[in-house]
Amino acid sequence: MPPQLQPLGPGVSFLPGAVNSVVVEGEGGRALLVDTGLDDTHARKLLRAVEGVGLTPGAILNTHSHADHHGGNAFLLSRFPELPVYAPPLEAAIIRYPVLEPLSLWGAAPPAELRTKFLLAPASPARAVGPGVQILGGVEVELLPVPGHAAEMYAVRVGEVLYAADALFGPEALGKHPLTFCADSAQQKASAAALSELERVRVVLPGHGDPTPDLAGLVAANLTAYARTTAGVTAALAGGPATVDELLARVGAVLGVTATTPGAWVLNRAVVSAHLTELLAAGAATLELGGGVLRARA
Ligand SMILES: [Zn+2]
Repeated sequence: MPPQLQPLGPGVSFLPGAVNSVVVEGEGGRALLVDTGLDDTHARKLLRAVEGVGLTPGAILNTHSHADHHGGNAFLLSRFPELPVYAPPLEAAIIRYPVLEPLSLWGAAPPAELRTKFLLAPASPARAVGPGVQILGGVEVELLPVPGHAAEMYAVRVGEVLYAADALFGPEALGKHPLTFCADSAQQKASAAALSELERVRVVLPGHGDPTPDLAGLVAANLTAYARTTAGVTAALAGGPATVDELLARVGAVLGVTATTPGAWVLNRAVVSAHLTELLAAGAATLELGGGVLRARA
């Protein structure tokens, strides 16, 4: 039996996984595939599920450039070389040149430890698509800008169904990753809050987690988690001037987060950096350079 798509609403379904993939039906049996998963294994399942209900891929939309959301593109493009791939403009650039992801996290040519499939997906020829109502592969969707988790990201609205991408995490993902990834924590909070203002959302699906009718509850859980991280960085700063790495160690001790791979460590470090930037912008912290060491102080 092929993997089963789970219905979300009229013409919209999803393939559950470590990352969810959303399938939106268009005219003539074509389907828009939103996020293709980490690798060939996920993408193969997605294609079997889509073809199992008589649909043919018409286009791919990657909500953002994290490898677990576009790593499956390569398999789909090997089967459908003409399949257009869309993404927010800055994210499309990273999907075309995916080394930008580990390069930005490390700040230089990334070592082999950061060239794993979790941080470096195969390149695909993504093209930029703007926000608003768009027709992608013959399928109409509304793209809502929700930056913060990534530099740019789109949530996808189809009728009363909202795919939040990684603008909202399910409760289990929030519990498992107390340092919820973000590139810009202030934008991450604003984007989550903006989603809670949407009307007529009957079901919301996070990128990682289960669908729920409780949009307000999901937003509240995410805002609480993001605020906890800001509070953790604030508390770490109260312990005295510290480098970002020292702040990460202090925050990790409080939140019970210990990275076990270099990849996890650079992601956690980026989260602390993002919240530090937010505190710097708010005037709650300053940077000081002394003895060749850059430290932040409250
Ligand atoms: Zn992501």
